Amino acid sequence: MKTFFCPTMVDCGKDVLETLPDIVRAYGSKVFVVMDPFFQDSPLQDKIADLLNGMDIVFYAKVQPNPRDNDINEGAALCHEQNADVIIGMGGGSAIDTAKAINVVATNGGEAWDFVRSTEGTKRQIEKPLLPLIAIPTTSGTGSEATRYSVITNHLTHAKATIKSDLIFPNRALCDPMLTMTVPRKTTALTGIDAFAHCFESYIGSKANDFSDLFSLKGMKLFAENIEKVCADGNDVQARENMALCSTIGGLSITHSATNLPHGIGQALSGVTDAPHGGSIAVCMPQVVRWTLPQGMKRFAETACIFKPELKDLSEEEQAYALPDILEELFSRIIGEKITMASYGLTEDKIDDVVKMAFTSYHGDLSRSPRVPNEEELKELIRSCL
Ligand code: NAD
Repeated sequence: MKTFFCPTMVDCGKDVLETLPDIVRAYGSKVFVVMDPFFQDSPLQDKIADLLNGMDIVFYAKVQPNPRDNDINEGAALCHEQNADVIIGMGGGSAIDTAKAINVVATNGGEAWDFVRSTEGTKRQIEKPLLPLIAIPTTSGTGSEATRYSVITNHLTHAKATIKSDLIFPNRALCDPMLTMTVPRKTTALTGIDAFAHCFESYIGSKANDFSDLFSLKGMKLFAENIEKVCADGNDVQARENMALCSTIGGLSITHSATNLPHGIGQALSGVTDAPHGGSIAVCMPQVVRWTLPQGMKRFAETACIFKPELKDLSEEEQAYALPDILEELFSRIIGEKITMASYGLTEDKIDDVVKMAFTSYHGDLSRSPRVPNEEELKELIRSCL
């Protein structure tokens, strides 16, 4: 069976933010806005206040990269107190994931960590209806505006894990590339790598299917054609727009397939070191491909040709084996330096922690890879990324 499912109505394009008032009005007049702290006291915050003039608005900006469960619990209490009709999540993936999790806790009670998926303990189910949620991404990376995931970090244990439910898709997404114009070059590169990773991992993983392939192939092409342009010139509106689209398409790819080994390792690395999400993927993906080959050769070869069409006359094996170097060189070029796991503070003595967290919270990601590592192999693979 093949299933297409995305309950989010997505509007992408320059200035789509202007449509916000009509969308909000359809849901009510008490609005809880979860906002990336980058926009606190900014012209964008003023603009949202102007657009929603006359409504009861509460802004909540306690959002950290790799969002913490205690900030979510605090935001949920405020949202509940306001008796909000609708939640807006505006910012990078961290703000949108915070908004999704606040929605769960504000309506269902308990604490955010009760709802995560893990091999340890029982996950609490979402039983009560959620509030309508509008996602407004300001980075081009996670695609969270069109996924069933909210990735959160336990502030006490530093474990990172995911709330996964069809109920937490946003109702609406407004993907306005103009909101990404201020993203600095390095963050543009790292978030772009995340968008690519969603398309790529969905394409090579065991859950790939006709629907996810549509999104994966288009998304990888958009990344290959635009990431260098947008990193060279952050004011290139067309390239920003194409990367915003690539990001949402990446979200749709994982919605219809899933992430696998690079995300399994990356999420655990971020839990242990607080590495930014895109960086955590960039430091392992080329090595993961090297380690995985010759498994999954055909799709690695096809991906290599998206970046370098001139490889088309080589054998499939030559194309596939070219991919790790293509990715490594491209990532270093757009980021502006070569980064490794050591750049994010990972040391030999913490490798076991990353392995344990990957197997506990991201076992599914590991299992969907074309080559599935055991604990010893994962340790070695991570060591090779130091
Ligand atoms: P982020 O949201 O953490 O933002 C990165 C930095 O960029 C922050 O400092 C933020 O303040 C800043 N920023 C955001 N918008 C900006 C703008 N327009 N101008 C300048 N600065 C801006 O980074 P992200 O990569 O977007 O999100 C990462 C989080 O999303 C991680 O926790 C990751 O695990 C999660 N994630 C979620 C999904 C999902 O489907 N829910 C998928 C992938 C990743």
